[in-house]
Amino acid sequence: MRVAGVELGGTKTVVVAGSGGKIEQRIQFPTTSPGETLAKVSAALREFDAVIPIEAVGIASFGPIRLDPMAADYGTILATPKPGWTGVDVVGPARIKAQLPIIVDTDVNAAAIAEHRLGAAQGCANVIYLTIGTGLGGGVLVEGIPVHGVLHPEIGHIRTRRAAGDVFPGTCPFHKDCIEGLISGPALAARFGCDPSTIDPDDGRWIQVASDLAELLAALILTHSPQRIVLGGGVSIGQPAIIRHVVKILPNLLAGYLTDFDAERIKDTIVGPKLMEDAGPVGAMLLALR
Ligand code: ZN
Repeated sequence: MRVAGVELGGTKTVVVAGSGGKIEQRIQFPTTSPGETLAKVSAALREFDAVIPIEAVGIASFGPIRLDPMAADYGTILATPKPGWTGVDVVGPARIKAQLPIIVDTDVNAAAIAEHRLGAAQGCANVIYLTIGTGLGGGVLVEGIPVHGVLHPEIGHIRTRRAAGDVFPGTCPFHKDCIEGLISGPALAARFGCDPSTIDPDDGRWIQVASDLAELLAALILTHSPQRIVLGGGVSIGQPAIIRHVVKILPNLLAGYLTDFDAERIKDTIVGPKLMEDAGPVGAMLLALR
């Protein structure tokens, strides 16, 4: 079955087509205004469909977004910090022909599905995929199924315990110092006054980032008991030092409680993505295949 996948990310949009979760065609461009971006999505899908017809489309979008297919606003972006995107329908522009099934999920749930099926979380029932980049998001699979509920998890906006003496106010327009407001790419740029990708891996500032992230991971371990937490996104992939620091800090936070999560288990639980930046687009295709 030939399907298309659309990863609508905070910074870039990737449109792919292929079969069996394998990318055969790809078009990518920066995510700009909704009108411009979604017109390009439409054009890319038409181009792929003209080569060999596509039978379904999966959309993996940044959120918050309505995922209930029965809701009148299915596939609509809800209140988002991303300028211009609140209230935008992402499904309509993908409907390039009649009777084309379109399945929507969050970009992070899709990435979790991809890592679960083909990547770093194979064989794990409970999986969390976290991305740290333009924003901070988390997808959650329980028994391999993405969690939706009323909407879907919004892990990036959890408030965690702050490091002693850290007075950075945070950058989230809704909550200031939620975890996204503390350690997303733009938050780090504001906090450190430079592009975070230019900070040396051995710089002590990564320990500060890892401490905040470890607080979030401890909360996620305590609430979800995941067999695997995959850390993706530009900030994490660009700085593998973060994972090294996090696995050292976490046992102290758990403080000998949960003996199953000893240092060895934590090292096995918190890993980088295997599919790297393809987790989102591959996950979008897997959504279409379901
Ligand atoms: Zn927030």
